[in-house]
Amino acid sequence: MWKQRRRIAALAQGAVILALPFLEIGGESALRFDIPGGKLLFFGTTLWLSEFHLLLLGTLAVLLLVLAVTVVFGRVWCGWVCPQTVLPELSSWASCLLPASWRKTGGKAVLFLLSGAASLSVIAYFVPPSEAGAVLFRSRIAAGIFLVQWAVFFFMLALLGPTFCRTVCPYSMFQNLLFDERTLTVGFDRSRMEECPRCERCVSICPVKIDIREGAQRECIACAACIDACRAISDRQAIRPFIAYRGTIRRPKAALWGGAAAAAGLAFLLLLLQKPDVSLLVQWEAKIAGAPANSYRYTVRNDGGRPVALALRLDGEGTMYGEKEIQVGPRTRKTGKVIVRREENEGGSVTFVAEGQGLSLSGKAVFP
Ligand code: SF4
Ligand code: SF4
Repeated sequence: MWKQRRRIAALAQGAVILALPFLEIGGESALRFDIPGGKLLFFGTTLWLSEFHLLLLGTLAVLLLVLAVTVVFGRVWCGWVCPQTVLPELSSWASCLLPASWRKTGGKAVLFLLSGAASLSVIAYFVPPSEAGAVLFRSRIAAGIFLVQWAVFFFMLALLGPTFCRTVCPYSMFQNLLFDERTLTVGFDRSRMEECPRCERCVSICPVKIDIREGAQRECIACAACIDACRAISDRQAIRPFIAYRGTIRRPKAALWGGAAAAAGLAFLLLLLQKPDVSLLVQWEAKIAGAPANSYRYTVRNDGGRPVALALRLDGEGTMYGEKEIQVGPRTRKTGKVIVRREENEGGSVTFVAEGQGLSLSGKAVFP
């Protein structure tokens, strides 16, 4: 039965979404946005907001993957993964454990708790795992965001429900542009229309309240509930269900979108793997008035899991004043300022070298 498979998929994706910010790789969350630090912790690596090319490529890979999945599998995201459909399904499943007269209220109560858990999991994607719960008691802003999100999620899930999927969801509008006649969809076998006993179960069970016998419809979220309902009837007559998933993944369009997503994903991973753990960037800041000297700002970025201690020096002529000893904690960056004075050979460029712990990094800047 598709229902069982959907529930397994729902539990698996719920566990992954809830666990990701709490799962630690090298002492940090597997996936978390560190807004004050200006970085994204991404499965043991660090993506800084200043690394536009990587962020852009990663976003492009995700977008292409979404497009490829939509072209091939249609609205499978909606029926199988999207919290808007998955959480109500889980709550109605849990409410089946209650006596029949309590199920409706019990289902809403479970949905209320699941909305709270979803809100907390969103918070956990923005604060360190050890502070995810405590921050709600320490920060009024975090507590406010948590409560507002909780209310919005509950409103969307319990009150809007499938109406959201049919009318508001932008992804649903956009999906329809990508469909073609071979995209995976749920369909009724119209050649067997006369055999159908018209039990109407496929209609009564449909969460978006459509009649799939009338043909493919934009509102269908490919949840397969009607297939299960139809199978319960057709099995009694030892015939195939009238409703089934239809479509094929073996076609040029699928290969094109899938290939583009794979290429972008691969390029992103290669760039990520080639990124050095520690890097030095030096920027010219200003000329010092009345002296043959310039000021510079340097940034040492440590994407590794261990602290780094470096000493900054000049490679070439000149004297350097300022913050020469650099201590950088794991997955952080340190900025500092130095002044370089040259009595002779004014003009050209200046090269800085940061050394220590077996590392030798260099950075160049102008000396106007
Ligand atoms: S028509 Fe079937 S697959 Fe589509 S939303 Fe309704 S029950 Fe789900
Ligand atoms: S559930 Fe199957 S048998 Fe019943 S009306 Fe729908 S298509 Fe016909």
